[in-house]
Amino acid sequence: MKFYQMTPAQRRDALMQSGDLTPADAAFWADRNVLPEAIADALSENQIGQFALPLGVARDLMVNGQMYQVPMATEEPSVIAAASNGARIAKLNGGVTATAAKHVVVGEVVFDQLADLQAAQLVINARRGEIKSLADAAHPSIVRRGGGLQQVETEIIAHFLKISLIIDVQQAMGANIVNTICEAVAPQLSDWLGSPALVAILSNDDRQLTTATVALNVETLATKTTDGATIARKIAALSDLAQVDGARAVTHNKGIMNGIAAAVLASGNDTRAVSAAVHAYAAHSGHYVGLSTWQLVGDQLVGELSLPMPVGVVGGAISALPAAQAAQRLGSYQDVATLQAVLVALGLVQNLAALRALAGPGIQAGHMALQANALAIQAGAVGDEIQVVAQQLQQQTKDLATAKALLTQLRLQKGE
Ligand code: NDP
Repeated sequence: MKFYQMTPAQRRDALMQSGDLTPADAAFWADRNVLPEAIADALSENQIGQFALPLGVARDLMVNGQMYQVPMATEEPSVIAAASNGARIAKLNGGVTATAAKHVVVGEVVFDQLADLQAAQLVINARRGEIKSLADAAHPSIVRRGGGLQQVETEIIAHFLKISLIIDVQQAMGANIVNTICEAVAPQLSDWLGSPALVAILSNDDRQLTTATVALNVETLATKTTDGATIARKIAALSDLAQVDGARAVTHNKGIMNGIAAAVLASGNDTRAVSAAVHAYAAHSGHYVGLSTWQLVGDQLVGELSLPMPVGVVGGAISALPAAQAAQRLGSYQDVATLQAVLVALGLVQNLAALRALAGPGIQAGHMALQANALAIQAGAVGDEIQVVAQQLQQQTKDLATAKALLTQLRLQKGE
């Protein structure tokens, strides 16, 4: 039986048998996964309840020769199916290769009321050593872990002097670490410059890129109705279109983020920080463009995706959320570079699956087949009724009225 045809319990058993899930984690996922109220209350403000999402697994994503089972939390039907489908095609071709750049986060302290910007810039440039000592004293634990302030850069922008602190945050996402250092350094900078700082905070603009590539033999792209060479040519053309048509680029990139956002959320990381960095990078040339490229090279279709990926494997909400820790164990994210590589590889195969569907049967065939479950629930189906109504919807017009009619009919048959 295929993984997607199994019940959730059978899927957990299959993952235990393949050694991807420990019995303890299988029991954890089988549980209702409600957060203890004290943790829920402590994590955000004005807490009154909890909000559950399904957690699924994109199967067998091969990255740098290793197989990953990627946990994803999403409400959108077809995202995990598409990711698994893209991963399957990549695996047939030897998998995805991905490399992460050094993980640093930039903090900025900005001054706006300086009479002589050039003189102020010289002052700061001459005191880089002292700034380093201040930063290290502000966060000694990150220094002990091998990180901390690496570099100080200064730049005059309009009437502002910007002092950028480039900080190695080791295995954390680093926003709090960087903010702590920026706020600790700012008063001393103000003393030297004789003017208060306007702002001292990290920048979510991240230009440390993780790059994933995959080379596909075109015949592995064939669909039931279209040959692989035609699909490959159309995927390359769609990639070109996303470079010149902003409207298309936004949807192209939303598709990439379908998978990444779900896996980032499951890993306990900050989805907003990742989205902000990714979309800023998509516009770094001055035009918003598609983030991935697909090109025909000989008889292969070569895909590449480079993205900033500001995530961590420790810190933030990760240690407070038992589900995030269990997801990190299932994903085998031993370090931040692995997590970054898996996330960008996931974005690439997610994009592949979407473009292949667009180049072949179109996106709605797969989407609406999976949307039937959501329609059945919307119509009021509960328990076993969901599958029955969803199955009957496959042969009918997939809308709410039809789902409601099918449910009424089903209940009449059951004598309810
Ligand atoms: P933390 O403040 O939790 O700092 C990292 C923690 O991880 C520290 O407690 C550190 O321990 C611990 N740690 C353990 N091992 C390591 C290691 N190997 N490397 C690094 N740290 C380690 O989180 P972050 O600074 O990562 O900030 C992330 C959080 O900040 C997220 O929740 C995010 O949502 C939020 N945030 C985001 C903002 C933005 O994006 N604009 C703004 C503000 C907050 P120790 O104490 O010993 O150093």
